[in-house]
Formats: sequence, structure tokens, C-alpha cells
Amino acid sequence: MDSRMMGDDLHSVLVTAQQIDERLTELAAAIDADYAGREILLVGVLKGAVMVMADLSRKLASDVRMDWMAVSSYGSGTKSSGVVRIVKDLDTDLTGRDVLIVEDIVDSGLTLSWLVANLRSRGPASVEIAALMRKPSEAKVHVDVKYCGFDIPGEFVIGYGLDYAERYRTLPFVGTLAPHVYA
Ligand code: 5GP
Repeated sequence: MDSRMMGDDLHSVLVTAQQIDERLTELAAAIDADYAGREILLVGVLKGAVMVMADLSRKLASDVRMDWMAVSSYGSGTKSSGVVRIVKDLDTDLTGRDVLIVEDIVDSGLTLSWLVANLRSRGPASVEIAALMRKPSEAKVHVDVKYCGFDIPGEFVIGYGLDYAERYRTLPFVGTLAPHVYA
């Protein structure tokens, strides 16, 4: 999908495909430096993190393994509540592993703070977070995002893995939708 297929549904482009590519290159270099000589278990959170996982992982020189979780947050509409249910758990035993959670976006932080506590309880050597985006104005709990791509305004965004009603995930950039789409 590209922006021409969106007609007037697209309101603005917040982060371009080139900006994403350049920033992921920087984050990958920082991760490689920090984990030198160690194997990293990348844990992607479905479905939104698929694009950032695919692109970030291929920029890493480190030895990596990949696993996936799907979680569902009980909440109203687009807001999460922090009460999280595991829909698909990891296949990997985390004992002694260096875990790097790969996320699309940190909004309230409730989902990630729950996830970090859950994964830490499984005996890993370390748990850190890489997230493409973070909305500082929306934070309800502090989450230590060691590798953050972009701080963005507290608006609902789509593209690069992120959906609205399962649409727009395959856009190569991150943007906002025109108000009429929600109407
Ligand atoms: P949190 O628990 O931090 O409030 O929410 C995290 C999850 O909510 C993200 O992993 C993502 O799935 C979803 N989310 C938060 N903000 C946005 C947004 O602006 N757009 C989309 N499509 N999903 C979002």
C-alpha cells in the first residue's frame, strides 16, 4: 500500500520511510555495541511490531533468535487498561537469556510494563525494550525504553505495522488519519 491508495484518508505523514530506515540503522548499531558477544532473543509483540522486527533484526550484526507474543489488553476502544491477557505465548524458555522486546509504539506504557514484569519473572539474564515510537504525553506509567526510535505527539497513528481496524499496516511510513475516517 502507498499513500496514493489512501485518497484523502491520510491527514499527515509523521515519520517518513527514510527516517525510519535511518533511525533503525542507528538503533541497530547501539544494540550491537551493547550486546557484543552475546546472543539476543528478540521478542516481537504481534501484530504491530512485525515491520520494525523485520527491518531492525536485519540490520543487526549480532547473533539473534526471534520469538513472538500476542497479547490483548482489556480496555475500551483504542485505550489499553493495563490488564493484559496472553493470546499467544513464547515458544522459548527465557532462563538465562538476554531478551530484547521489540515494540511498535509505547502509548500509556501499561501493556509494556505488564509485559516486562511478566518476562522478568521467567528468569532471563536481562530484559530491555526497543520501540519505534513513544508518546511521552500519554505515559501513565514509566517504562524504561532503552532503544527508542522517535518521540511523537499523543495522536493516533497508523502505518509501518500499525492499523486502524486492521487497515494501513503495510504503509511504509507512519501517519495520521483524517477525521472523516473515524466518523
Ligand atoms: P499502551 O499499553 O502503551 O497504552 O498501548 C500499547 C499498544 O496500543 C501498542 O502496542 C499498540 O498496539 C496500541 N497503540 C497505542 N497507540 C497507538 C496508535 O497511535 N496507533 C495504533 N494503531 N495503535 C496504537
